[in-house]
Amino acid sequence: MPVPSLTVLRTYALKANPSELPSSVLFSHTETSLTIFDAFPKAIFHFLVLPRVIPPATASELSSLRSLLKVEKERARGIVETLGKDAEQVRGMVEEEMVKRYGFKWDIWVGFHSVPSMEHLHLHVISSDLVSPRLKNKKHYNSFHPKLGFFLHLKDVLSWFDSDPSYYAMMSGLKKDQYEPLLKESLVCWECDKPFKNIPALKTHLQEKWDGRVEREKKRLDKKRTRVRELEEADESSSEPLNKRVDTRDTS
Ligand SMILES: [Zn+2]
Ligand SMILES: [Zn+2]
Repeated sequence: MPVPSLTVLRTYALKANPSELPSSVLFSHTETSLTIFDAFPKAIFHFLVLPRVIPPATASELSSLRSLLKVEKERARGIVETLGKDAEQVRGMVEEEMVKRYGFKWDIWVGFHSVPSMEHLHLHVISSDLVSPRLKNKKHYNSFHPKLGFFLHLKDVLSWFDSDPSYYAMMSGLKKDQYEPLLKESLVCWECDKPFKNIPALKTHLQEKWDGRVEREKKRLDKKRTRVRELEEADESSSEPLNKRVDTRDTS
């Protein structure tokens, strides 16, 4: 697979008609954003929500979170909030798909990378399993670790707008040298804090956690189905069938 160009997201965001994008790229779009499948998903579900370039916003303002936070604060807030609303819709669609495919849903994280690897602002919507053959190295993993600090949860970024001006100034600087070292931190399971010597060991742990979850949920669903069946059987074996009882009630 060819390596996508660093500016491909911008070409998508500039499209007047996003529905012209191939269905292998585009997941959904609104007046203000488009959501694409991450070309290298780091979890079972992984999408990018991009703001469309709508004046007065310019492509260069929307180049990254850092560039956006340099524009007038309330305008920047508006763009981040709108993007967040669209991401919430995407979260809802992903949850529906989770239930349809797996019979249960699990956590979804919505946030930005503090130091992005591609141009044009994009909000990651990623399922918390982190089970994917595309997750290949420490940098990949640490960039989504929800407590490490490199991954900036949308709600945290939104809170910066309400903080005092000096804090906003500090956070919105998004200094590379402050965040990039986090990617080199040692590997720790985000959920149980267990340390791992290398990526294969961590990936085995993530896979086992996921398999265990699927197994537990399957048992839970089977139990539920059995209970429903028992109730139905109890009903059928009662002296009066359900429809008869309903009829009686109707005529009374
Ligand atoms: Zn990214
Ligand atoms: Zn763990």
